[in-house]
Amino acid sequence: MPAKFDFHIHTYYSDGRSGPLEMVEAAEARDLEAVAITDHGPELHVGVPREKLVSMLQDIETARRDAGIPVYAGIEANVVDGSGRVDIDEEFAKKLDLCIVSIHALGELMDPKQVAREYLARMTKAVTHRKFNVLGHPFFYHQNLLPYLSREEIENFVKLMAHRDIAVEVNMKYRGPGDEFLALCLREGVKFSIGSDAHTPRGVGKIDWALSALRRVGARREDLILDDMLR
Ligand SMILES: [Zn+2]
Ligand SMILES: [Zn+2]
Repeated sequence: MPAKFDFHIHTYYSDGRSGPLEMVEAAEARDLEAVAITDHGPELHVGVPREKLVSMLQDIETARRDAGIPVYAGIEANVVDGSGRVDIDEEFAKKLDLCIVSIHALGELMDPKQVAREYLARMTKAVTHRKFNVLGHPFFYHQNLLPYLSREEIENFVKLMAHRDIAVEVNMKYRGPGDEFLALCLREGVKFSIGSDAHTPRGVGKIDWALSALRRVGARREDLILDDMLR
């Protein structure tokens, strides 16, 4: 039985509605074992402005002090260009407990096959150059990109994730990735994270679909990122 936790939550520091404290309270009310606050990095149009990063961390720290569950300070960093550069510098990343890496913009490409290739190329560069904890909404950019990649391309990427010790997120907002990809990750020893991608307190910890998907592919508690974080 996979554990209940939520490692992908937005607050009003980016495009969420509420503050860290309310989101953490919602997590406790839903009996989660742990929670991470992960606002968008500064180079997304709705991301946390750089000058607010420090007060964001302070607010998370305040929420943590009163919480009955572990509260992690995180970010959802963006891969911003073809070099694989992300919008969170390494110095700031050291202050965080959890760093998600996601792609939210890929330029003007239209053909889904090209989009999938570009996603794969950028993400491969990003995770090769920098250490991240979680791949956010894997291969989702306007649609599921996995059908546009070859089996070999996907397998090689999953092996890289295993090698780099980066967990794959089961994301509630996009209901993905699918069982086949999750089963491949499980087989290669990639761990799983769970993210509601909530932007309101109501969405925090709503992870039923993710838990069902993890159960279907046979993931156990030890296949989750949770205990590594609790340690
Ligand atoms: Zn995202
Ligand atoms: Zn998000």
